[in-house]
Amino acid sequence: MTTGEAILVEGLRKEYGEKQALSGLDLAVPRGTVRGLLGPNGAGKTTAVRILSTLLRPTAGRALVAGYDVSARPDEVRRRIGLLGQHAAVDEELSGRQNLEMFGRLHHLGARRAAARAGELLERFGLADTGRKAVGKYSGGMRRRLDLAASLIGSDDRGDKSLILFLDEPTTGLDPRGRTEVWEAVRALVGGGTTVLLTTQYLEEADQLADAITVIDGGRAVAEGTADQLKAKLGADRIDVVVRDAARMEAAAAVVGMAAGSAGVERDMDRRRLSAPVADRMEALAETVRALEAAGIEAEDIALRRPTLDEVFLHLTGGDAA
Ligand code: ATP
Repeated sequence: MTTGEAILVEGLRKEYGEKQALSGLDLAVPRGTVRGLLGPNGAGKTTAVRILSTLLRPTAGRALVAGYDVSARPDEVRRRIGLLGQHAAVDEELSGRQNLEMFGRLHHLGARRAAARAGELLERFGLADTGRKAVGKYSGGMRRRLDLAASLIGSDDRGDKSLILFLDEPTTGLDPRGRTEVWEAVRALVGGGTTVLLTTQYLEEADQLADAITVIDGGRAVAEGTADQLKAKLGADRIDVVVRDAARMEAAAAVVGMAAGSAGVERDMDRRRLSAPVADRMEALAETVRALEAAGIEAEDIALRRPTLDEVFLHLTGGDAA
C-alpha cells in the first residue's frame, strides 16, 4: 500500500498499563517536508517516534511510513528510514570513520561498501578532516553530526528523496554553535528531498527548521500549522508597555487593561513590563498612550508586536516550553 504522505498516523494509541502515552494521535506529513513535533515533557513525542521507527508496537490505531504499515511491514519501513535517537551508540575510543564503518558492517554492507559509505558520509557532514580523530575528542556539534551520519548508513542506495528521517531532540544539550552546525546538516539533507520528523522542546528549533509544526500534549495533537499560522490562530497582537516607576505597575496595569480592552494583562515585575492582547492595533495603541498620560503614568516604551511562538505554546499546552 502506498500513500502520497511520507508519514500517516491515525488514532494512534500506546498504553503502558494504566498510563496512556499516546491517546489517539493523528498526523500526516507530506513527502519532502520537515515536520516539527513540539510538546512539553511527557507529551508522547518519543513514544510516537519509537512506534514510527518500528522500535515499539502501538496498542491501537494505524501508522504508515513510506506507505507501509509499521506493525505489519516493519522490515520495509526500516529500509526507508533513518533514526537519530536521544542517545547514540558511538564508541568513544574509535575514530569517526571507524564508527561509521562498524555501523555499515552491522547493516550488512560489506567491508568495501562500508568504507566507501563512511567516506561519503564524513564528507557530506563536514567531518572529512576529523574522520581519523577519536570520537571522545569531538565537540558536541561534531558528535551529533556523526550520529546523523550513522543514522543514514543503512539507507544506502535509496537516495535522499525516498528517505524519512526521525530526529528525536537532535540538539538537546548542545551549545549554540553545535546547534547551528546540526541545523545546517539537517537543512542540507532537506535540500536533497529527505522527509524529516523532528521532535524538539526548543521552539526556536521548530521555527527554524520545520515547514509545519504539530503541537502535542497528553498524547494527542492539539494544534497544527506553520509557525505563523499558529501565531495567527492565537489571534491577537499584543501591546507591551515598559513602566518607568515600578511603584506604578498596578496602576498602569489597570489603565492598559482598560485601553486595550483586555482583562488579561501580564506583568513582568523585573523588567517593569506589562503585556496585553489587543483587538484593534492602532486604536489600542492610541488609547493606551492617551490613557497613561491622563493618569500621569510615565512609560519608557510602548510597542505593538505579534505573539511569540513561546506564548502560543504556553497557551496551547498550559505548560512550560522547556
Ligand atoms: P520527553 O520530552 O520527556 O522525552 P516525551 O514527549 O517524549 O517526553 P514520552 O517519553 O513519549 O514523552 O512519554 C509519554 C508518557 O508515557 C510519559 O508520561 C511517560 O512517563 C510515559 N512512559 C514512557 N515510557 C514508558 C514506559 N516504558 N513505561 C511507563 N510509562 C512510560
